[in-house]
Formats: sequence, structure tokens, C-alpha cells
Amino acid sequence: MAWPSGKAEACKASIPQFESGCHLIFILKVLVLYLVSTPIGNLEDITFRAVNCLKACDYILCEDTRHSLKLLAHYEIQKPLISFHLWNESSREERVISDLQEGKNIALISDAGTPLFADPGEELVRRCRELHLPITALPGPCAAICGLTLSGFKTQPFQFVGFLPKKESELLESLEQLLEYPGTSICYESPQRIRKSLQAIQSLDPNRKIALARELTKRFETILTGTVSAVLAQEEQEAALGEIVLLIEGYQKDAEPVFSKDFLRLCVEDYSRTHNCSTKEAIAFVSTQLNLSKKTVYAAIHIL
Ligand code: SAM
Repeated sequence: MAWPSGKAEACKASIPQFESGCHLIFILKVLVLYLVSTPIGNLEDITFRAVNCLKACDYILCEDTRHSLKLLAHYEIQKPLISFHLWNESSREERVISDLQEGKNIALISDAGTPLFADPGEELVRRCRELHLPITALPGPCAAICGLTLSGFKTQPFQFVGFLPKKESELLESLEQLLEYPGTSICYESPQRIRKSLQAIQSLDPNRKIALARELTKRFETILTGTVSAVLAQEEQEAALGEIVLLIEGYQKDAEPVFSKDFLRLCVEDYSRTHNCSTKEAIAFVSTQLNLSKKTVYAAIHIL
């Protein structure tokens, strides 16, 4: 059974609200997929509505059942947990759709934070939209937004990048584009890879301001801010630990020192000649020495 098309308002109105936790009879008559945000570290960061929803639904889709059991135990929620992760997302999907069509209420959670945010569920939501099945989101914690609000950088505009590429060439390519963005860029990072990413940013723009938001909402929450070179120097003295959101301040044209295009061209030509290297290598050297982005030096060379 597909939800009748052209009834967007009817769908909206039929989504039950978990205000008091005693709407179970009503809920069972309505088929809904609930996207439920859960804590990113501190177990108290969950809404009353989210707890009531998890208590009232038929079953809960989650990434790692052992991980989510801790949350359920803390809030005395006794509901079946069904694994739904990147590797079985597409095979589980049909079953979930048919359960929704039969009138089951299903909650989707991830290991932490907001489902779909660098976590599974995108395809399922897309299918529900195509089939006009009602979905609603119970908002709550999200590491990206928590990091952004604490960074001290502009909150508008911002772009959410998710995890940066692992391969060095792809990492540099993606950072080159990202560093031109005028708003704040938000990336997720692992403690094993953070230094590599910071070194790559430093090679492109050593003076770019960044913030490292580590272990948000947890006991050892820290926010390190400064130029990428300064943060990297500090980071290299510390143990690589914890969950990290990397925030990169937007590109600010005025922040760069101003040099004439003639001067930049001469610097690049001179370095390339005296060191017998390519123009690309000379551009990289000159931009680092003059605290300019490679893009600025490249533009000066190629416009002339
Ligand atoms: N869906 C989650 C959300 O809403 O934030 C993110 C899931 S993603 C698979 C996991 C990544 O989020 C981690 O590798 C880390 O980069 C970031 N993260 C999650 N919890 C965090 C925390 N407490 N402090 C800092 N970063 C966190």
C-alpha cells in the first residue's frame, strides 16, 4: 500500500507526537519512520520525546546493536534492535518498507548523533519519500553543529564535508576546493588521520584558522583554535585520541597580504630557474613563503 500521492498535508497531520509517552494505541494505527537523534557522548543529551518514541515504536534500526543496547539499558527501553548499517542497508530496506506499509512504527538511530549525518539511512529516506510513506525526525545532538557553534567561526554559510578522502592526492584535491569556500567547512576526522589532514591544509594555506573540537559533550572535551600551523605544532605534542570535528574558517580575501602580479611572477620564475623545478613546485614554494594560497599565486601567473 502506497500512501496516496498529493496528500502531503494529510501525512504531516497524521504523524503522532510523543509528548507524554501515552499515545501508544494511537501510534499503532499509524505507519511512520522516525529518525531519532541520540547522544554523541553524554547520555543525558536525548530529548524526552526521543525516549518516548523509542519506548513506543515496534522496533529500532541501529548500526551496532551492542553499542545501542547501552543507551536502551540506561533509559530502560525494551524494544528489539535490528542492525542497519552501511553493509546491509540496501538488503534490509525492502523489509523495512514492507513493515512500514503493514503499519509498523520504526525508529532509526545511529551509533551517535543524528542519523544520516555521515551515517546510514539516506537511501531508506529517499525510498520512503518516493513511496509517500510518512517520515519524521526527532532532532537532537549532532557533532558537526555542536562543533560549529563552539568554533567561534561564522555559522553562516557553512558546508558539511563529512570525512575527508583518505588517499593523499584526493585529499589535496578536495582541500584545494574546500579552502576556497567563503564560509566555515565542517569535517569529521579520526585521531589516526588528523595530523595528515592538518599537514595537507598547512601545505596549502599555513595561516588558515581552524578549530579542533575533540570529545564533544564528554569529560575531556577540548576546543583548540588558531592557525593550522599553530594547532598542528600543539597537536604533534599530544596523544592522538578521541573523536574529532575539524572546522576550517572560510576563505577571506582580505586576510592575505597583497603583492603585485609582476612581483609574484618574478618570484615564481626566479625560484623555478634557480632550483631547476616545475612552475607547480615553484608556486607551492612561493605561496608558503609569502603566506598566500596557491590559488592566488597561480592566478597571478596565469592571468599575466
Ligand atoms: N551522526 C553523527 C553526528 O550526528 O554527529 C556522526 C557520525 S560519524 C560516523 C562519527 C564522527 O562524528 C566521528 O568520527 C567524529 O568525527 C564525529 N563525532 C562524533 N561524536 C563526536 C564527539 N563527541 N566529539 C567530536 N566529534 C564527534
